[in-house]
Amino acid sequence: MSQFLPEFLQAYIPTTIQLIYLIATGFFIVGIKRLGSPATARSGNQMASFGMLLGVVVTLFDREIVSFEFIIAGVVIGALLGAIAAKKVQMTAMPEMVAIFNGFGGGASALVAWGEFTRLDPTLFETQALVTTGLSILIGSITFTGSFIAFGKLKGFIPGGRIALPGQNIINLVLTFVALGLVGWFTIDPEYQLVFWSLFGLALLIGAFTVLPIGGADMPVVISLLNSYSGIAASMAGFVLGNNLLIISGALVGAAGLILTNIMCKAMNRTLPNVLFGAFGGSDDPAQTGTVGDKSIQQTSADDAAIQCAYAKKVVVTPGYGLAVAQAQHVLKEVANLLEERGVTVKYGIHPVAGRMPGHMNVLLAEADVPYDQLYDMDEINPEFASTDVVLIIGANDVVNPAAKTTPGSPIYGMPILNVDEAKRTIVFKRSMSTGYAGIENDLFYSDKNQMFFGDAKKSLQELATAIKELD
Ligand code: NDP
Repeated sequence: MSQFLPEFLQAYIPTTIQLIYLIATGFFIVGIKRLGSPATARSGNQMASFGMLLGVVVTLFDREIVSFEFIIAGVVIGALLGAIAAKKVQMTAMPEMVAIFNGFGGGASALVAWGEFTRLDPTLFETQALVTTGLSILIGSITFTGSFIAFGKLKGFIPGGRIALPGQNIINLVLTFVALGLVGWFTIDPEYQLVFWSLFGLALLIGAFTVLPIGGADMPVVISLLNSYSGIAASMAGFVLGNNLLIISGALVGAAGLILTNIMCKAMNRTLPNVLFGAFGGSDDPAQTGTVGDKSIQQTSADDAAIQCAYAKKVVVTPGYGLAVAQAQHVLKEVANLLEERGVTVKYGIHPVAGRMPGHMNVLLAEADVPYDQLYDMDEINPEFASTDVVLIIGANDVVNPAAKTTPGSPIYGMPILNVDEAKRTIVFKRSMSTGYAGIENDLFYSDKNQMFFGDAKKSLQELATAIKELD
């Protein structure tokens, strides 16, 4: 595009491009910072998107660009698919969508490296370009197959359980060392095509072999890790192309993905090796599950729950994955409005891993216009339960399971939880006595202070809203 500019301006183009890349980087960083709070997240997203648009447009002024037709076709098709996905994909299917996006990101980085390898004479590459070409192929291809296997497991195309060869972890370790050896060999002898293609094929295999043995339930953590990989692959592709913006944005994604993975592991009291190499959930061992034998449960009805809530001083709502499944956020807000009109204080306690992705509950509640100042993090709400009259536990299970405090050996032992058992009354909204994500029993359901409100959360909350309205 630079050819359309007057000649005297053309000399300034390279410096101007770098300067605008720097400005775009600023937008990325401030945008990511603003994603940290629900109040500023929307504008943070817009800022980061604007930074990306700036980066893409400015790159079009690069003299190296050979065909605008393909770029325009790519932008139009990509934007269309992205817009459709963003509109159509359900909130509960967000991890799947992120998995696909990561896969495409990793695949694109590998393709960039492949493109440069075939377009140019690799014997003329400097060592740095050769190393990063090899790493881009390696990490990008692992991300590609790994992400698509993760997507398949979440969608149910691929069985969610552990699919592995005997000694799979050792095989994966050996294959990874072989692949790193191939990167070294490629750097020394880039003309030897067989090495390049072997590296490509092996990396695709490692991606599949790494994710296949991991249980479907652990996919959100794996997807966050693959997100980090896709960023690192993009950064490597940036080195191959000599594009500073790609290097920086890739590094930002890489670091953000790693930080997120770490936060998720910590919030679940798991280590990353335990997620990657250990099975999780579905234990039948009563010692681990905290089964309480023949203890009974108490059930409640809409009318009874309505009276308890309407005459309470303080009600705390603790939402979980079931709220997202039932899409009950709007009717939950209606119930909260009805209670507030009667002078009840309503607060929401959000566990960091409630739902199936970080911030899942915040996004759902924001969608229903729940005021941000009513959302409390776990650390803020926990001291308040002792003075709470009723806790409405909507489709949450693991995040309120006292086994995390009381049952050593339970898969969730040590995970910080919402201390709802300290409240005067808890009412659990769920469809059955089934377990949650971790596949373990929940003693809270059998507590004297607890009542079960069985049914789909949306339907139950609608009944509750009607019952509250009928109270005088
Ligand atoms: P859980 O998965 O523990 O429990 C969800 C409960 O919702 C189920 O017991 C289910 O019971 C109920 N439910 C499902 N559908 C409905 C419905 N339509 N109406 C009413 N209830 C419904 O969810 P939590 O949010 O408590 O815990 C999240 C879990 O996910 C944690 O173990 C966490 O470690 C894990 N995790 C979270 C990640 C994150 O980033 N947030 C990432 C990876 C894992 P029933 O079938 O009886 O209705």
